[in-house]
Amino acid sequence: MKTLILLALVAVASAVCYDGYQALRVEPANELQLDFLNTLKNELEGKISFWSQPRTTKRPTDILVQPRFQDDIKELLDAKQIKYSVMIDDVQSVIDSQARSEDDVKIGADFDYSMYHTYEEIQAWVFEITAAHSAIAQQFQIATSTEGRAINAVKISTGGIGTKKAVYWQGGIHAREWVSPATVMFITKSLLENYGVDSDVTEILDAFDFYIVPSLNVDGYSYTWTRDRMWRKTRSVNSGSACRGVDPNRNYEYEWGGEGASTSACSDTYRGPNAFSEPEVAGTTSFLLNANQEFVCFIDFHSYSQLWLAPWSFTARAILPLDKDDHDEAAAKAVNALASVHGTDYIYGPSARTLYAASGCSEDWGYVTLGAKYSYVVELRDTGRYGFLLPANQIIPTGEETYEAVKALCKHMVEEYK
Ligand SMILES: [Zn+2]
Repeated sequence: MKTLILLALVAVASAVCYDGYQALRVEPANELQLDFLNTLKNELEGKISFWSQPRTTKRPTDILVQPRFQDDIKELLDAKQIKYSVMIDDVQSVIDSQARSEDDVKIGADFDYSMYHTYEEIQAWVFEITAAHSAIAQQFQIATSTEGRAINAVKISTGGIGTKKAVYWQGGIHAREWVSPATVMFITKSLLENYGVDSDVTEILDAFDFYIVPSLNVDGYSYTWTRDRMWRKTRSVNSGSACRGVDPNRNYEYEWGGEGASTSACSDTYRGPNAFSEPEVAGTTSFLLNANQEFVCFIDFHSYSQLWLAPWSFTARAILPLDKDDHDEAAAKAVNALASVHGTDYIYGPSARTLYAASGCSEDWGYVTLGAKYSYVVELRDTGRYGFLLPANQIIPTGEETYEAVKALCKHMVEEYK
């Protein structure tokens, strides 16, 4: 009986509440100010949360601060003459305002792309969309998460003679970046619906096989729906620590454990005990390496910042890849096509030099180990007005513009590889 009561209590335990939490946009202007922010980050690990890392003066750093530290943090920033502004005044009120009405949820044949969907709905969508386009699409389970959830994938193949070159896209590696799975689903259905309708799409799907994972970090994603909207990492248990989770985008084997990845299990950028410790990362990468196809494109969709980033991610100091000019040319086509839809501006360039260094990342692995020449990390909308809490009414516009961007990139690849 006692056990039953305990279980019931656990089940109703309240979710993490962000009442009064502010998101501050901080703009370090020089190395001294950056150093100070890094000291703050190290000393207040777990008390304040950095939504972006303080490693460059070229871009702002966004920090989530709980109410009781707000005055102190602002005083410290003022004392160091570091410019800041309040980006979101009350994070919980934004979360609350975005709660969907369960009566409005549409799945199955009426799947509503203009709302955010749960883990279960996304995985079911993989079955539904492939069944609806069964002549050219199939579903399969690409990996299983730490907590035993299925990670489902879509394969698009229009057949033909011989083995085609292949494209791999994934969304949702970071749990709280909800617009990523939503966008990956939108562009996938747009490609499927336009095969045989739009001559560019027909040419693209006839040229390449596609493997698409809408939601990779399924445990983390589920957790953002039930317990903590701001969760980023996986949900694995770290031995010797009360802190859960590994940053799956610091867990890839290529240059694992270098710059911009933490050795602390409590950090949001924890690299994990070893490369590929996370089954979500290990499972998908091993599938790709064993797929017996030549991959020419690898895209990992994130949010937010509106960036189209190419290798290298692991350092800003290495000589850039020999393919750099081609990376830029194709990225320029993608972001121009993207901007033509709703006027949304993206910046493109090598990751570490454009944003900051992060080792053990998907994009470097995709480029070097998988050998996909066009390997990118894409940071979707916005630039910080809502950050990870992008309102659902921006899903479709984000999908529409990203669809044009990937079409332009794929057309570039069709030209190159035909
Ligand atoms: Zn991310």
